[in-house]
Amino acid sequence: MLNITDQQLIKKGSYINGRWLTSAEQIAITNPADGCIIASVANAGIVETEQAVVAAKAALAVWSAKSASERAGILRNWFNLIMQHQDDLAAILTQEQGKPLAEAKGEVAYGAAFIEWFAEEGKRVYGDTIPAPSADKRIIVIKQPVGVVASITPWNFPNAMIARKAAAALAAGCTFVVRPAIQTPLSALAMAELAERAGIPAGVFNVVVGSEAKAMGEVLTMHPDVAKFTFTGSTVVGKSLISQCAHGVKKVSMELGGNAPFIVFDDADIDAAVQGAMASKYRNAGQTCVCTNRIFVQNKVLAQFSEKFVAAVKELAIGNGLTAGVNIGPMISAEAVKNVDQLVQKSVGQGAKVVLGGKQDAAGANFYQPTVLTNVTNSMAIAGNEIFGPVSPIIAFSEEAEVIAMANDTEYGLAAYFYARDIGRIWRVAEGLEYGMVGINEGMISNSAAPFGGVKQSGNGREGSKYGLDDYLEIKYLCMGGLDK
Ligand code: NAP
Repeated sequence: MLNITDQQLIKKGSYINGRWLTSAEQIAITNPADGCIIASVANAGIVETEQAVVAAKAALAVWSAKSASERAGILRNWFNLIMQHQDDLAAILTQEQGKPLAEAKGEVAYGAAFIEWFAEEGKRVYGDTIPAPSADKRIIVIKQPVGVVASITPWNFPNAMIARKAAAALAAGCTFVVRPAIQTPLSALAMAELAERAGIPAGVFNVVVGSEAKAMGEVLTMHPDVAKFTFTGSTVVGKSLISQCAHGVKKVSMELGGNAPFIVFDDADIDAAVQGAMASKYRNAGQTCVCTNRIFVQNKVLAQFSEKFVAAVKELAIGNGLTAGVNIGPMISAEAVKNVDQLVQKSVGQGAKVVLGGKQDAAGANFYQPTVLTNVTNSMAIAGNEIFGPVSPIIAFSEEAEVIAMANDTEYGLAAYFYARDIGRIWRVAEGLEYGMVGINEGMISNSAAPFGGVKQSGNGREGSKYGLDDYLEIKYLCMGGLDK
C-alpha cells in the first residue's frame, strides 16, 4: 500500500469524461525495487479508449472556445496543485518506477514547469497579416487548435512525459487522451485527479489505463476523431505508430530513442566534464532518452578523465529509491537488467575491459551495478545500441573530425554533449553534430523554456519553448477579396 498523505491521489482506474472507471479485471502495479504489489488498477481496453476519444471530441468545442487567459488560469491551478502535492506525487512515482525520491521530486517539478510555461505561452498564439499581391485583397493568417490529441507515453518519466504533451495541447485549445505505460499508470491517474480539482472540464484530459498496448494504440492512431498523435517511446514502436497514423494522415510528433555521445576534448575542464557525465549518464539508472550512451575522450586527457570518472561512479549508492542517500534505484524490470548485461558481456567478448561494476547487483533482481568500460570502440554493440542502463563505455579518439564522424555514426539524433574551451572548436563541433540538442560544457539540458526533440530516427516535433505549441496548432489562411468595390 502506498504511504502518502493524500490518499485520494491513488486511483483505481481510467479517468474518462470526468469519471473514474472500475472493472472486474485488475492490473497489479509493482514496485521495481522489491517486486511488491503497491496497487491494482482496472484494466481498460479498446472500448474505453474509444470512449475517451469520443469524450475528448465532445469537449473540444467548449474548451477551444475559451479565451487563452481562461485556459491559462485553469492550467495555472493545475500547476499549483501539482507543486502543492509534489511530495506525494514523487512518492507514488518512486514506488511505481524506482527512481530515487529526490529525482522523482525533480521530475514532478520539471513536468509542472511545462504546465506553467504553456499556460503563459498560450496567450501568445499570434496570427499574421501578409501584403497581398493585388490591391483588392487582404491575406490574414490565424492559428487554431488541431483538435483531439491522442498520446502514448513511456514508463521512464511517468509524470513529465505526460505533462510536456498535455500542457501544450490544452494551452493551444486541444483536448487530450493519454495511454500511459502499463508499469506506471499511477502517476498519470494522480495527475488526472489534480486536473479535476484544478477545474479542467470533463473530457478535456483523459487517461486510459490498459494492458492491450497494440489494440489501444490502433484506436489512438486511427480513430477518425483524433486529429493529432504524439508518442514518446522507442524508435521501433514509434515507426509502427507513424505508419498507423498515415491511414488518416494525422499530424504526428515523435520523441524516440537516442544514442548520445559525450565528448571530452583535451582543452576541457576535466572536473566539470566528470560532473556533467555523471549527471547525464546515471540519472534514472541510465534509463533516459538523453542519457550519455558513449563517452569519447581525447587521448591526451584519457587517463585523467577516466580516473576521476571512475572515482565518482564508485561513490554512487544503489538501493530502494525511498532510502535517503540512494542515487541509483532499480531498473524497470529483470528483463531490462538482462538486456543491459548482455550488451556488457558482448562488448567484453569484443575486447572491452570492465573497470567497475559489470553485473547485476546484490540489492535485487532489478538492480544493475554502475559500470564503466574502457577499450571500447565505436563499432561494438554497446556503442551501436541504446544501452538504457547505468553503463558508461569510454572510447578514445585523437582528432576533432574523427570524433564528430564517430558521434554522428548512428541512426539516432536526440542529444549530444561536449566539453571544450576553444571557441572555434566549440562552434565547429556544435554545428557538426547531427543532433536536435547539444549540451556544451553542460550535462543537464532539458527545461520548459528550451525546445526538446530530435532529428534522424530520434523523432520529429519539439516539446517545450516557444516552438512547442506549433505541433498543436493549425495555420489557417484567410483571403479577403472584393475590397475595391
Ligand atoms: P516502448 O516499448 O516504445 O513503450 C513506450 C510506450 O509505448 C508504452 O506505453 C508501451 O506500452 C507502448 N507500446 C509498446 N508497444 C506498442 C504498440 N505496438 N502499439 C502501441 N503502443 C505500444 O518504449 P520503452 O522501452 O518502454 O521506453 C523507452 C524508450 O523510450 C527508449 O527508447 C527511450 O529513448 C524512449 N524515450 C524517449 C524520450 C524522448 O523524449 N525522446 C523520452 C523518454 C523515453 P506498454 O507499457 O504497455 O508496453
